[in-house]
Amino acid sequence: MLEGCEVSFSSDSKCDPEKCACMRSGLAYEGHKLSAEFLRDKRPVFECHEDCPCSLSCPSRVTQFIDHWPFLFKKNISDQVGAGLFSSSPIPEGAFVCSYDGKLIEQSEAIAKMDENDAKNQHNYVMIFTENYQHEKHGDQVLGGLCTCIDGTDFHQSFGRSINHSCDPNLIPIPVRCGWEVPRICLFAMTYIAPGHELSYSYSSGAPSQKLSTKQCFCGSKSCRKFLPSVAC
Ligand SMILES: [Zn+2]
Ligand SMILES: [Zn+2]
Ligand SMILES: [Zn+2]
Repeated sequence: MLEGCEVSFSSDSKCDPEKCACMRSGLAYEGHKLSAEFLRDKRPVFECHEDCPCSLSCPSRVTQFIDHWPFLFKKNISDQVGAGLFSSSPIPEGAFVCSYDGKLIEQSEAIAKMDENDAKNQHNYVMIFTENYQHEKHGDQVLGGLCTCIDGTDFHQSFGRSINHSCDPNLIPIPVRCGWEVPRICLFAMTYIAPGHELSYSYSSGAPSQKLSTKQCFCGSKSCRKFLPSVAC
């Protein structure tokens, strides 16, 4: 469990971004949308939670009340690609779209499962998300990686697992913590998305390397790299 913040508000029971410990890395949301700074820097979000003294209308609480954007639907795209995810209503920049749901698994299990999917040429529903952060080791600043592995294979109803990779994506995965060390990997709109436009994110967003796999990419964007990113560590 993460610690809650201290009382730092006046009369309306909403945290003051200048003083709230949960918002120490900045004000994540502006009008319930992820701020341009957080989108650009892929900054992890810490929302206020049940151990915080603020009210439910605190600006530091957004994804904890929402399962997903209300107008999402899955549609078959092609035999090669399978299904994809779409919205029937316009999505504004910074809006929370859905999370990548699944079972939390160990990194070794995640890698084994991905290798197995590759070998059998099956769709992969395992996400390995690495957050890079600076920390001190023996007096030196080193770059460490905090890894969250999610297996969405059996989560058929979840929207996150239906989102295809694109080399020119319109969503970005961001780790959001609501009182727990383990984050929920939430997908936010990087830009305005018109209705009926396929939703996508880059599978290399949370990957520790920028290597490519041997699986072909069919995203069709001008900047397509022809192969899907390798998400293994
Ligand atoms: Zn708060
Ligand atoms: Zn708080
Ligand atoms: Zn591509």
